[in-house]
Amino acid sequence: MTKGAKSGSGIGRRKFLGGAVGIAMVAGRGGDPSAAAAGENTYAEKLSTPIVERHQVIVAGGGPSGVIAALAAARTGADTLLVERYPFLGGNGTAGLMTCYNGFRNQKPPEALQTVKGIPAEYIAELVRLGGIADMDNYPKADHDVGSGDLPYCIGFDPEAAKVAALNLLIKEGVRLRLHSWVVAPMLSVGRVNGVICESKSGRQAIAADIVVDATGDGDLAAWAGAPFMEPGRARRSPRPHGRQPDVSPGRRTGRTRQLRRYPDRRPRGKMGAGGRRRLPRRRKPHPVGGREPA
Ligand SMILES: Cc1cc2nc3c(=O)[nH]c(=O)nc-3n(C[C@H](O)[C@H](O)[C@H](O)COP(=O)(O)OP(=O)(O)OC[C@H]3O[C@@H](n4cnc5c(N)ncnc54)[C@H](O)[C@@H]3O)c2cc1C
Repeated sequence: MTKGAKSGSGIGRRKFLGGAVGIAMVAGRGGDPSAAAAGENTYAEKLSTPIVERHQVIVAGGGPSGVIAALAAARTGADTLLVERYPFLGGNGTAGLMTCYNGFRNQKPPEALQTVKGIPAEYIAELVRLGGIADMDNYPKADHDVGSGDLPYCIGFDPEAAKVAALNLLIKEGVRLRLHSWVVAPMLSVGRVNGVICESKSGRQAIAADIVVDATGDGDLAAWAGAPFMEPGRARRSPRPHGRQPDVSPGRRTGRTRQLRRYPDRRPRGKMGAGGRRRLPRRRKPHPVGGREPA
């Protein structure tokens, strides 16, 4: 059949695929086939989700907060499960290739006050053990014995080592892990969250828990459970279905979005070289710090 041609029965390709998807969903979830066929804008799912596990604590999200929360829970003796959508831990620090953990102490001289210790310091010690800490970074700092918990303001790290460090700490403490699993909804009973609904290659499954910790980074689970939150650019608080960190919100009114829209006009005017590569203007001055440790 040529591109754009219709099948013999007169059904267009797009229409046929839409119908097929609808039938597949109905087969899996027991919905109403007539709704999909009629081209409604909403599709009413009838779900009966199996409860596959029960735990004392579930932590949703395996970023720094989730890893630390799960470790802390397991150390109280609680049977703890951590659910993460990616196949690795570390959150924005590893998935976003952040390469620099900031904020362990007061940044300004004389660096008097270390405000973050405890499990984060253990995590850094594990990174040191794995050889995953950078020797130098762009922040001025005094000498610190990083492996023993005396942390500077900022620590450069290897994201791949950070994934392993987080995994090592959780396994050592007996935390159960479900990777490749999206938390898609809370289990709710009489206004209380008593588990999570997950989706993965195993399908849609419910996992019950006495306590659920939302460490999704954006508070998505709390928002889905109806907790109030503040939207960027708005003063009022509203329980809406999707919470977002202000920094990464695509809100139309943020200055960042306006800045992005202006970007095409502000890019460096380099010449196009051989093979279609753009040659950018050379930086005249050396970088003020240059990656060296200040004296
Ligand atoms: C652009 C940007 C740059 C930054 N740069 C730095 C920096 O250089 N240094 C620094 O120290 N901090 C930096 N930060 C801040 C830092 O990223 C956060 O403070 C930190 O990641 C917060 O950790 P978290 O565990 O709360 O959330 P996250 O790191 O966001 O972790 C959330 C985890 O939950 C998982 N998750 C989310 N939703 C679900 C779901 N529904 N189901 C299952 N899993 C889910 C995610 O995959 C992720 O692993 C930066 C932040 C941004 C946005």
